Amino acid sequence: MIRITLKPGREKSLLHRHPWIFSGAIARLDGVPTAGETVEVRAQDGRFLAWAAYSPQSQIRARAWSFDEHENIDDDFFRRRLENALTQREELVEASTGVRLVHGESDGLPGLVVDRYGPVLVLQALSAGVEARKQTLAQQLMALTGAVGVYERSDVDVRQLEGLPPVTGLLAGALPPDPLTIDEYGLRMHVDVAAGQKTGFYLDQRENRHRIGRLAAGRDVLNCFCFTGGFSLAALHGGARSVLSVDSSAEALQLAEANLALNPLPAERASFVEADVFKYLRLLRDQGKSFDLIILDPPKFAPTAQHVQSAARAYKDINLLGLKLLRPGGLLATFTCSGGMSAELFQKIIAGAAVDARCDARIVERFTAAPDHPVSLAFPEGDYLKGLLVRKG
Ligand code: SAH
Repeated sequence: MIRITLKPGREKSLLHRHPWIFSGAIARLDGVPTAGETVEVRAQDGRFLAWAAYSPQSQIRARAWSFDEHENIDDDFFRRRLENALTQREELVEASTGVRLVHGESDGLPGLVVDRYGPVLVLQALSAGVEARKQTLAQQLMALTGAVGVYERSDVDVRQLEGLPPVTGLLAGALPPDPLTIDEYGLRMHVDVAAGQKTGFYLDQRENRHRIGRLAAGRDVLNCFCFTGGFSLAALHGGARSVLSVDSSAEALQLAEANLALNPLPAERASFVEADVFKYLRLLRDQGKSFDLIILDPPKFAPTAQHVQSAARAYKDINLLGLKLLRPGGLLATFTCSGGMSAELFQKIIAGAAVDARCDARIVERFTAAPDHPVSLAFPEGDYLKGLLVRKG
């Protein structure tokens, strides 16, 4: 039996069912586990704590699969966990053929992310434990969902922390159809599974796109960091007077324009600009432009708590400019997907931006990730996406 024994007093987080075991909490390792192998975790006094996947190179030295001493971590265990995650999605997501089926730690499967885009699945292996069993998981997922194929997008920076190289390509079954489209609240959208950002699409913003679309009627809309135009299409669908979409990625903008062409929407009301949002907002200000609805959905400026300082400046900068460009009575939908940024701090930053913009502003709504991105109460780190709807004046 391979066993980790923790230092005295370091068992607390596991007793609270937080799944991470940091290297600094470990007193002793008995045996020589391979990467991803299941190990037993015990407290200093010998009390059983968890079964966990060992990760030799990571600061997070092991991630718990189960807190039940009598549970076997075998194929059947993973099938049960997958089944459970899938069952929960059925009642959570009604209006899209793009769904996050497995959301890592929050679904009791640390390091595993699975998104469904119509007939295909995209899998990310973010931990040594998942890496070691991804073939089996892909087969099980195909059997459980009837998907035609599982494509791997394990090309994310966090893999480095696990000592894992970036990997992309087909894991099981057939390649995704080309082009691949999903239907979200009646809008068709291309998803580039092989080359798009993340797993090809930002499913976490689905409900917020829909909500903001319903607020867009008659408004001049500015969509910053538009990616493939999700918010832009929702705004046009909702009756926006004009929608200006900005992103620094030419590929993303190409897909955004293709998405517009896929749908019966008034294309003459839409324009797309390839630019750095930080510079472009200043240009719009200098040109004296103004808008009724501005969306700011930037990439994560603070991947971890260490980056919060510089991230805070960046968030304040774009929000200050955004508030200035807003007409009185206008709406700012502003987001952060930075794990290191708390909701409290984010709100303070926006408040600071309003002070510097010399405007009255009030929060009228709050946003979170869509319900297929649950947050386990034992794993608050999973609560990464926060948003505010702010009305000016
Ligand atoms: N709102 C989108 C997701 C945004 S993801 C949706 O609903 O699908 C963040 C986007 O910001 C990416 O498309 C990325 O290309 C873009 N981006 C990152 N830095 C940027 C910058 N400085 N200026 C403009 N776009 C940027």
